[in-house]
Amino acid sequence: MTRSGQEYLEGLRDGREIWLDGERVKDVTAHPAFRASAASFAGLYDLADDPVHRPVLVQGGVRRAGAVPRSYEELVARRRAFRTTARASYGFLGRTPDYMAAGAAGFAAAPAVFTGDAFDGAGHALAFHRRLAEGDLHTAFTLTDPPSGRGEDDLALRVVEERDGGIVVRGAKTIGTGAVFADELLVGTIEPLAADDTEHAVTFSVRLDTPGLKLISRTSYEERSRSVFDQPLSSRYDENDALLVCEDVFVPWERVLTYRDPATTAAIWWQTPAYLNFVHQSATRFWTKLEFLTGLAILITRSNGTGDLPPVTQAIGRLLGMVAQAKAFVLAAEASYEEVDGGRGGVRPGQEISFAQRIMAGELYPRAVQDVKLLAGGALVQLPASGRDLLHPELGPLVRRYFATPGHPAEDRVKLLKLAWDALGSEFAGRHEQYERFYHGAPHVYLTMQTRAGAAEECESLAQACLDGYGLGTTR
Ligand SMILES: Cc1cc2nc3c(=O)[nH]c(=O)nc-3n(C[C@H](O)[C@H](O)[C@H](O)COP(=O)(O)OP(=O)(O)OC[C@H]3O[C@@H](n4cnc5c(N)ncnc54)[C@H](O)[C@@H]3O)c2cc1C
Repeated sequence: MTRSGQEYLEGLRDGREIWLDGERVKDVTAHPAFRASAASFAGLYDLADDPVHRPVLVQGGVRRAGAVPRSYEELVARRRAFRTTARASYGFLGRTPDYMAAGAAGFAAAPAVFTGDAFDGAGHALAFHRRLAEGDLHTAFTLTDPPSGRGEDDLALRVVEERDGGIVVRGAKTIGTGAVFADELLVGTIEPLAADDTEHAVTFSVRLDTPGLKLISRTSYEERSRSVFDQPLSSRYDENDALLVCEDVFVPWERVLTYRDPATTAAIWWQTPAYLNFVHQSATRFWTKLEFLTGLAILITRSNGTGDLPPVTQAIGRLLGMVAQAKAFVLAAEASYEEVDGGRGGVRPGQEISFAQRIMAGELYPRAVQDVKLLAGGALVQLPASGRDLLHPELGPLVRRYFATPGHPAEDRVKLLKLAWDALGSEFAGRHEQYERFYHGAPHVYLTMQTRAGAAEECESLAQACLDGYGLGTTR
């Protein structure tokens, strides 16, 4: 069964412990730092009730994003669902419910990977997938250790006690994007662990209202925004990032997916399609976000009256080329699909292309932002402080006169440029640049991975074939 936005919001009012600016947040759906973004997540749930979107998003009563794709056609259908969701926030909500729904489907496609020497989590992984799909739940995840890591003080989350009914965990994990808006959190480790590091080798899911679980939120851009007109993105699509702190949190066995098995704890991300499914969602969202930035660029150049200048049309051409690159990575990952577990686990997007998408996106996004800023010029900065200036009886006529350009009334132009600044130059925009560069790992990690996933042998043998084709005595 799919849930309505209202049902989703009711689920968030569960007494969860969220901290912001030294204050305990009582209700994320009502607090000025979170409520509009919570409403945006609720809007995603309501999409499933829309007669146009429902056939794309839902199949057999459950979300398509959370189904195990069995064919190339089902991968394409899943992408259409991802795209519908991404378009609803113009690509600015990264951790929408379909992200972890697809990850969990990856677990369900290859449950045998969860059977380790120390613990068998296969049944629990299947139950996790079922719970998410049947309850239409939104799950965020924290897989990264805090900066202090697993050093002397050992602040990274670890198992401190085993009881009859489950385990007790203590410590922190970061960065919980969207965690304050989630029904559940999946906690684990995606990096390889040392073979003897059994106490950190754990993966589990928890409800947000579990005793001892705290989320410490970063600054809320939503709370700082003045109005939707002034900051249309920050005010509504601030998905939040929070540090997870567990103070002796009890996790029942049925929610434990890996335990005391370092190899399995990392393998569930790389030997199941979970991670590739994540990339399928995020690559689709990235494509959508680049479309949005390029659309902004076209509107800005039109409003600035520069749209017909050859260097400007070429710059738009470059941005459209980036959109096509982002699209091509999605289509190519689908076309190079691979069977999971000999076909028993359905299909997954191709690994080589999916991994490479992370490199492309991390490098392309800052460049696209710079290119749009270059086209916009100083107009992005020289804007009335707020929409109130336009409404003021004395100031309004002045603002309307001096901020207009031929064919573009001041209100339209200010509206457009404020949207552009929010997307490109605000604190919210800065966080988005960091997100696109790091949410899938740091460059030194994913570039190194590409040396294994990429076609290094083919490249080398082609160059070697050329070298082998001639020598000192070769004549022309
Ligand atoms: C906005 C945002 C949202 C995120 N959301 C989530 C989330 O929801 N869940 C989650 O689990 N994680 C999330 N992440 C975390 C993300 O996975 C990590 O940021 C990423 O894995 C990199 O780890 P790090 O930040 O510790 O960087 P580091 O590993 O510390 O790397 C930072 C920089 O240090 C240098 N460096 C460090 N080590 C080396 C090395 N060995 N060799 C060369 N250079 C090195 C490089 O310049 C590198 O770019 C998010 C990150 C961001 C920015």
